[in-house]
Amino acid sequence: MTDWMERAVALDANDGMAWTRDRFELPEGVIYLDGNSLGARPRGVAERVAQVLDAEWRDGLIRSWNDAGWFDLPLRVGDRIAPLIGVGAGEVAVGDSTSVNLFKCLAAALHARPDRSVILCEAGNFPTDGYMAQGLTRLVEKAELRWFDDAEDVRAKLGPDVAVVLLSHVHYRSAAVQDMAAVNAAAHAAGALVLWDLSHSTGAVPVDLGGTGADMAVGCTYKYLNGGPGAPAFAWVAPGLAPVSQPLAGWMGHAAPFAFDRDYAPADGARGLMAGTPQVLSLSALDAALEIWEEVDRPALWARSEAMVAFFIDAVLDLCAGHGLALVSPRAAPRGSHVGFDHPEGYAIVQALIARGIIGDFRAPQMMRFGFAPLYLRFADLTAAALALRDVLETRAWDDPRFQARGAVT
Ligand SMILES: *Cc1c(COP(=O)(O)O)cnc(C)c1O
Repeated sequence: MTDWMERAVALDANDGMAWTRDRFELPEGVIYLDGNSLGARPRGVAERVAQVLDAEWRDGLIRSWNDAGWFDLPLRVGDRIAPLIGVGAGEVAVGDSTSVNLFKCLAAALHARPDRSVILCEAGNFPTDGYMAQGLTRLVEKAELRWFDDAEDVRAKLGPDVAVVLLSHVHYRSAAVQDMAAVNAAAHAAGALVLWDLSHSTGAVPVDLGGTGADMAVGCTYKYLNGGPGAPAFAWVAPGLAPVSQPLAGWMGHAAPFAFDRDYAPADGARGLMAGTPQVLSLSALDAALEIWEEVDRPALWARSEAMVAFFIDAVLDLCAGHGLALVSPRAAPRGSHVGFDHPEGYAIVQALIARGIIGDFRAPQMMRFGFAPLYLRFADLTAAALALRDVLETRAWDDPRFQARGAVT
């Protein structure tokens, strides 16, 4: 058996990206493999939030909408995200949740294709995507939801009635990556638009919305972007499609919010995606969390993410062979920055690992999921996690009633 710790130590010693870990405040004794669900807290966020609470809110009061730049925060933060998804400055709006932004964009897509009625949605997508589409079809009488299984199936189902295809770029369970350019081209050839969910992509893998001719995208900022629990989501619409007609036509998306006109007129570009008053506290936390991306060599980071995923899969398949683990994720790149393994006792195994300070998560019915946030993990962490997993399996440490009890959030 290869010495996995020796290999990890050598990789860490030669890692030109090792400096990024020091930009995070990680708790002692924890190996955090859930940055794909809630990113760790970057240094500087607490100070920035304190500044907003004290200097800007307590002391500046309402003057801070102008003086502290609160009004422009959704687009300024969007400008930090833009290079990570391959779009230009001024094109990304940050606010609301991914769920709400899915609703806005799906409705805008239906509006942009008035002679078509079908939302074509990936059946295995993260549930909220399908739920929001179902909610929209209950509201818009002519709209209809149809499901597809995989990229092959999209092509088969792209009929003349399809207005928009909704899918994830990186799958939340398997980490399989869709060929963005190919899906865009197929949809466009059939006259449909594509709405990409980038929740598990942004900050983990390269994304090029502009270069692949994409139409619309939404995504989370509390995963690999480390914006904090409930951080506002982003939304993007190709400049050629703007201004969009989205139904959550609040005053902050109006072309002139402080004209107090009676009738709605959408702002051009990203502002037209906004609805209400920006979430200043959480936007400020996210703004501070995104500062690191100005210094990160992105191609080097994507390579590190891929190397970590490959390393962990190889280590687990080697160290835990014979214990009934089934790899859910693709065996080879391209793939996202997390890995899924099925096991009938997956829930209890994850709990046993968490009790040892190794935090992954569980996705029903039986998948253990381990995320490799490339900004703050080390290869040595991955070996330690794989060794702990082997130990939990060998000793059946999971077979303990306290690891069977399920919390509200898994
Ligand atoms: C995490 C995630 C979401 C979360 O949506 P919220 O509105 O922030 O709860 C949506 N879609 C996908 C694909 C996700 O992975």
